[in-house]
Amino acid sequence: MIPYGRQSIGSEEVSAVKRVLESDFLTQGPCVPQFEQAICDAVGAEHCVAVNSATSALHIACLALGLKEGDEVWTTPNTFVASANCARLCGASVDFVDICEHTWNLDAVLLGQKLADRRSRGLPLPKIVIPVHFSGQPTDQEQIWALAKEFKFHVIEDASHAIGASRNGEPVGSCCYSDITVFSFHPVKIVTTAEGGAACTNDSALAGRLDTLRSHGIVRDESRFVHVSKGPWYYEQQSLGLNYRMTDLQAALGVEQMKKLSGFVERRNELALQYNEKLSGLPLILPTVKSENYSAFHLYPIHVDATQADGVQGELFSRLRERHIGVQVHYLAVHLQPYYRQLGFGPGDFPIAERHADLTVSLPLYPTLTNDQQDHVVDQLRRSLDAS
Ligand SMILES: *Cc1c(COP(=O)(O)O)cnc(C)c1O
Repeated sequence: MIPYGRQSIGSEEVSAVKRVLESDFLTQGPCVPQFEQAICDAVGAEHCVAVNSATSALHIACLALGLKEGDEVWTTPNTFVASANCARLCGASVDFVDICEHTWNLDAVLLGQKLADRRSRGLPLPKIVIPVHFSGQPTDQEQIWALAKEFKFHVIEDASHAIGASRNGEPVGSCCYSDITVFSFHPVKIVTTAEGGAACTNDSALAGRLDTLRSHGIVRDESRFVHVSKGPWYYEQQSLGLNYRMTDLQAALGVEQMKKLSGFVERRNELALQYNEKLSGLPLILPTVKSENYSAFHLYPIHVDATQADGVQGELFSRLRERHIGVQVHYLAVHLQPYYRQLGFGPGDFPIAERHADLTVSLPLYPTLTNDQQDHVVDQLRRSLDAS
């Protein structure tokens, strides 16, 4: 099976992890700060807090911004459930904004309309909006940030797909149009630490809260103590936190992966361009990247031809899986998941995202996919379409 995504691990990663295994610190050692520095250097953020998953990073990002029961978070329905769940984990409610039919990203124009409509009717506004850089393509982040200033909400960028991406030359993660940016290092993502995530920010107070929340709410820096220190053993638990720490084994893997980031993203872009060429002329809609964007191409999602009969997506999916092409669907609309249905959402609420979910299929894309393997995927795709 050629999967839709997979990690690219070299001997450098193996040696780095082995060195940590033989060292004094498997966790809370020197590798985590090194990995955090590598991320700051790559994305241009001032602070980075590495944790054990992007889900954890989203959760503490919401907590650090003071999210609580009675607050609202808005996100896109075309995402992994974690982008919405982080709000529910803080007791807040969730609402969605539909996507742009070309980029499949949260539509900044619809966001502006929904905010204005809510305000004119005296209804609550969101405390946090979480746009997702779907498939690695940056959202219209300046527009979202301008709305954040006007309507006074915070912004967390869910950049789980987008480390290495940029917009008008500005790397995703520099946080110039957000409070916090979150990355995922799951093996299918751009760089991996097996499981892992990070939250970046330029706000040092926020960075301090993120750092504290990932480790039980405990503060060890004397300058931040509220009581007088009793000695070198002294520490203070100042808030209610969690154990979301990344291990040094994971961070060592991450440091080596970060050295390869630009190469990984270049190869992903090369493969995406080749798909664009090889698939042109077939009855498919191919992903479009706006001219101001450089996508990290975490995914290569296509749409099947909507004018054909219902069920084309399902047939194409099954035929490709039978031919050992590990296609996937990104994403089932989050608001139609049973958990969110039970909170009152239903079909027709966000029609563009629902339609996307019914038409899309993600083709294999990862740095070590060879051109021959890609040709094989295209060939099998062509045959599967002919069979219908
Ligand atoms: C993968 C992903 C997450 C969750 O990442 P984990 O590191 O697996 O917790 C969150 N949001 C999006 C958009 C993702 O793709």
